[in-house]
Amino acid sequence: MTRLMRALFFLMLFVLPGSAGFGQEPAFRAIAFYSTHVEQDHVDFALQAIPFFGAMAKRDGFEFKATSDWNEMNPVALKQYQVVLWLDDAPSTAAQRLAFEEYMEHGGGWFGFHIAGWMDGRQTWPWFADFLGTLFYGNDWPPLPAKLTVDDPQHPAMKGVPASFLSPANEWYSWDPDPRKTPGVRVLMTLAPSNYPIGFKDTLEGGDIPVTWTNTKYRMLYTNMGHGDKILTNPQQNRFFESALLWLGRQSASAGSVVRAIGCNDSDRD
Ligand code: ZN
Repeated sequence: MTRLMRALFFLMLFVLPGSAGFGQEPAFRAIAFYSTHVEQDHVDFALQAIPFFGAMAKRDGFEFKATSDWNEMNPVALKQYQVVLWLDDAPSTAAQRLAFEEYMEHGGGWFGFHIAGWMDGRQTWPWFADFLGTLFYGNDWPPLPAKLTVDDPQHPAMKGVPASFLSPANEWYSWDPDPRKTPGVRVLMTLAPSNYPIGFKDTLEGGDIPVTWTNTKYRMLYTNMGHGDKILTNPQQNRFFESALLWLGRQSASAGSVVRAIGCNDSDRD
């Protein structure tokens, strides 16, 4: 090996492994799952979200990987990550679901978007219904912008987010039961009453419709945004995506991947 080759070799050793900078350990590792065979508006969101989170990873010093191979939802692969993102899809096999359950029950982190929270009924995956704290009930159509109000401005996932803002066009879901009534669920954002009725072909007439929440029994956060190519166009909403992922990642990384998550650790607030 020439001296130059040796120098290049060592340079690659340090530069290639992460996006966290030269020789620096990433704060945490995140993996995003997505699909390309689903509804085009959901593919559009995922394909925009991947570079969006990739740039965030460089800025904030964590590692980010995206895959459309849901079989990477297995115990060996998941062990490498502190946060799993579902960009508009969900696991479809028993093995993938079981791997995810085990991961979450042992302190893994999850950031779910839009149809990631959809199921046709509790019987499809009862564990997930309890984990999410509710079930899909209805939706508006077509996708429309909506005013959101922040329920819990002190929560670290809401850091830097104004008390209310206009969220870009999205297909909004309603839920039954109201996740706010589920023990352990902490609602972070809700559709403002001034939006109602919202939709033309399908309409959400009113009521309490949370948009973003965490089930404090786990290190998880679900948000309803994720339909179409406008989602990432609002800096205020983008700030939420960033604060939320950093909260999940840092929480999980500090707790280690084998510690069972119990309750919401308020000492993590900043
Ligand atoms: Zn949708």
